[in-house]
Amino acid sequence: MRLCQFEGGVGLVEGSEFRDVSAVLKRLPSSVYPPVRGDALIAALPVLRSDILELARKSEPRPLSSVHLKSPVRAPGKLIAAPVNYQDHLDEAIADTETFSRAHVRRIEETGLFLKATSSMVGADDAIRLCFPERRTDHEIELAVVIGQACRNVPRERALDVVAGYCIGLDITIRGPEERSLRKSIDSYSVLGPWLVTADELGDPSGLALELDVDGEPRQRANTRDLIIDVPGLIAFASRWYTLDPGDVIYTGTPAGVGPIVAGNRVRASIERIGELNMEVAAERATISS
Ligand code: MN
Repeated sequence: MRLCQFEGGVGLVEGSEFRDVSAVLKRLPSSVYPPVRGDALIAALPVLRSDILELARKSEPRPLSSVHLKSPVRAPGKLIAAPVNYQDHLDEAIADTETFSRAHVRRIEETGLFLKATSSMVGADDAIRLCFPERRTDHEIELAVVIGQACRNVPRERALDVVAGYCIGLDITIRGPEERSLRKSIDSYSVLGPWLVTADELGDPSGLALELDVDGEPRQRANTRDLIIDVPGLIAFASRWYTLDPGDVIYTGTPAGVGPIVAGNRVRASIERIGELNMEVAAERATISS
């Protein structure tokens, strides 16, 4: 299945169309306090699968372009991210001492993982809003893994069993000396989309081509077969440190070719067997919630 979330609902994606299956949300447990950790829809996907397919059968197809796509996971507890996890990106970071702070250029086995704030998450039809336009801000395309069930200390042989699905992730990054979690947690700097491709539909995540262009200029071309720590390895690693909950996302790291984006750019990103997203880069807006 390919599941999208849009303003006001949930859809089953078929090509460039979707069928509205929002009624499935009524099957989720009503909210309790204190809340149960994890994204309720992702947690319930295995039991709701037949309901979703049934609702889709009764629903008319509508163009995806008629709705505003949000992140396909609405309430993740954690956005976990792998620092430098492709050798060619490590090489480019080592070579460019002006852009990449020395403190951040080490092998992933030493650095470990980091967290991005969940408030930084946006979907494919949102914009990337630059917070410090005077500072270099880069695109990073990454395969994003969405965890489907609570787990801890998962052995790598069983790691793919805990995956709900996969998305395109963009780990937007300000370069500089601050901690990664600060530089990568600004509102709109964690893109997830355009939809969730369930693990059964995607199959093996180890040979997927990734591409990212800015205004039509090729920037990143890579394949997940070149990950230093692969998807099962990352799940084993992350779950050794954190309990993983349904809806937690693991950004698996970016390959070489990272580069700056500025307001007015359009970022096109695609991952084989997932899809493509095309995002606007814009200036920050002031918001005060009442
Ligand atoms: Mn990254």
